[in-house]
Amino acid sequence: MITFVIDGKSLEVQEGRTIIEIAREHGIDIPHFCWHPKLSVSGNCRMCLVEVDRSPKLVIACATQATEGMVVHTNTERVLSARKSVMEFLLINHPLDCPICDEAGECKLQDYAYAHGIGYSRFDEDKVHKPKRVELGPHVLLDTERCIMCSRCVRFCDEIAHKPQLTFTDRSDRVELTTFPGEQLDNPYSMNVIDICPVGALTSREFRFRARVWEMSATETICPGCARGCNMYTWVRNNEILRQTPRYNPAVNEHWMCDHGRLTTFPHVNAETRIKSPFIRKEGELVEVAWDEAIARAASEFRVYRKNEIGVIASAHATNEDLYLLHKFSRDVLGTKHLAVVPHVVPGDEDQLLIRPDKAPNAHGLLSLGIVDAYDRTALDALVKRIHEGQIRALYVVEEDVCAIPEVAAAMTKLDFLALHATTENETTPQADLIFAASTFAERNGSYTNFQGRVQRIRPSVATLDLDRSLDGFAMSRLDRAGTAFDRWGRGQKRDARPTWKIIAGIASVMGFKYKYQTAEDVFHELSSAVPGFRGLDYRKIGTTGTMLNAPKEMTVRT
Ligand code: SF4
Ligand code: SF4
Repeated sequence: MITFVIDGKSLEVQEGRTIIEIAREHGIDIPHFCWHPKLSVSGNCRMCLVEVDRSPKLVIACATQATEGMVVHTNTERVLSARKSVMEFLLINHPLDCPICDEAGECKLQDYAYAHGIGYSRFDEDKVHKPKRVELGPHVLLDTERCIMCSRCVRFCDEIAHKPQLTFTDRSDRVELTTFPGEQLDNPYSMNVIDICPVGALTSREFRFRARVWEMSATETICPGCARGCNMYTWVRNNEILRQTPRYNPAVNEHWMCDHGRLTTFPHVNAETRIKSPFIRKEGELVEVAWDEAIARAASEFRVYRKNEIGVIASAHATNEDLYLLHKFSRDVLGTKHLAVVPHVVPGDEDQLLIRPDKAPNAHGLLSLGIVDAYDRTALDALVKRIHEGQIRALYVVEEDVCAIPEVAAAMTKLDFLALHATTENETTPQADLIFAASTFAERNGSYTNFQGRVQRIRPSVATLDLDRSLDGFAMSRLDRAGTAFDRWGRGQKRDARPTWKIIAGIASVMGFKYKYQTAEDVFHELSSAVPGFRGLDYRKIGTTGTMLNAPKEMTVRT
């Protein structure tokens, strides 16, 4: 350890750390564009200049290591004047089109222009003009005039995605970012460059010009796209998700997420094919009904069959709370042991950074809650065989499109009764006798357990009628904050969907069992005292970045 002084604070620090790293750890903000904590140091923007005693020139804080007795000043007149000069230099050719720029409101150049700029321009000559809409890849567009050549995007592709696809051509004020000849920016993590670009040079094809950042609310939640469970924000306006961006969690995903998770996990939330209320088959037709009628029908049907005539299919897309209650309901109310799951493993679709082969968020939860012994087809195949043999006559399927699997679809025609929880129309919904409108990951509270055995919270960002009525008022307060000027329901979609745990509790209560849970947290409270792996956990301990199970199980994944 060495002694190091910054802005009058004397610190004991490790030798070899840079000034910017130490300052950051001690709450001192040194402005910067090109430096990023997870990328190599490039030192090209010169925004982080600081003064060091006995050094004749200012030094860049990102590339200067602390030494014994070093005394650093981050706010002297020389430093402030240098910052002003750097800002003036960067803005010479910048188009200054903040009013139409997607980055406005979350742009470092804009923020620093307010904090460190001179407030006017001395530049009377013509600005250099460059291409305004360059397609770097399928999801990322470049406005070359806005680029300040910080090279963050280039280093991200080289060092994190391990796909060198971006580079610079030309020199001086003619420098342009581009892809290598014959290359596109199409690696599975390409959209992270949009997040780390400190200006509005890189924009998302899917999100650009759809909303200003201050019109949206951001909710801390978890990506349901695979078993990694990347921490992310969902950004909502008018009760519609417009984008998803990564949320820093050093134990799970650092600063990153994959393009698949970012883009494909939410469009179904506002899809036209959403199941917006419960349906019952009457005289061969599926008819929309009220919740009480649907729940009463499920209860009366389940009473008709003997215990070993009922099968249950659970889902790795459901939350721990949903699965705990489904397990309890199957055991204590239905009395069946015939539980199965649908594995969602895509062999080989994985990498060393984030992407996992299991494309569901909560297989570890299924195993930890003891619903099945292995995350594979064994129990499902046995269940299908029993249906074919006429031993199972009624099936309760939670959040799985089982008819998308041909062998299972063939068995469904043999059933007397099929009850289904579904978020959207799928191949199974036309076969069902009873459909419960299930809320999506973006409309419910709860938790997933990722492949590491880390329990993480999901939170609602989009309202359903049920959330509106619920005690926590969570969605209401969020929407009020961001959406008062808009139609809260956006696109006229009033979805009367409910979380799976609540539907199960409703059926159990009608069948004479006391399931008096008001919220997902009530279910988790019971779960954490009943299941050893979860013992001692609560929503406060899980917090925003999750916590590990006690003695997480090794996951058995067979395909
Ligand atoms: S596009 Fe953005 S991240 Fe890439 S070099 Fe330019 S300013 Fe930096
Ligand atoms: S790696 Fe998995 S959890 Fe992370 S963003 Fe991609 S799909 Fe989502």
